[in-house]
Amino acid sequence: MKEIIQRDNPILREKAVSIAVGEITSEKIKKIIAAMKDAMALQKDGVAIAAPQIGVSLRIFVVSGSLLKQADKKYRGDGTDLVFINPEIIKISKEKKEVEEGCLSVRWLYGKVKRSLRVTLKAYNEKGEKIERGASGLLAQIFQHETDHLNGILFIDKAKEVWEMTEEEIREVRGVQL
Ligand code: ZN
Repeated sequence: MKEIIQRDNPILREKAVSIAVGEITSEKIKKIIAAMKDAMALQKDGVAIAAPQIGVSLRIFVVSGSLLKQADKKYRGDGTDLVFINPEIIKISKEKKEVEEGCLSVRWLYGKVKRSLRVTLKAYNEKGEKIERGASGLLAQIFQHETDHLNGILFIDKAKEVWEMTEEEIREVRGVQL
């Protein structure tokens, strides 16, 4: 389960299923979250991961707090990982910007995608508590990319321009992948 599923796998195209609130703190979900963190850490450049990327069609995504801090100097979080369960975008800015984006499940393509500058997400955290969180910068881009994953959408569906790079080029020049 630590392998990242690649783009031709139909799991990436499914609409992932919500988790019953009472199940959020179960051993099963804890194990899935731990496996997602392990899989993301093995990639080194992985700043976020959605459950379908490890073959689990459930509505969870995880953001690496430490990589986010490194990659986005404006990010004010304390560097701990962020877990979002049953996430839902409840506000999204009309103002968009073309950003460069890559995905752990679409090696080794890179592209330009229009993303909203600001997003508010509601979700549950891993303790089963309701949370609401606004984001800008890289975290806003992550919220949109990972929510797309949970709806069976990959960035290459939306990208205007896609190009291939070598693994070295992507890791050195482009930084983090979503
Ligand atoms: Zn991705």
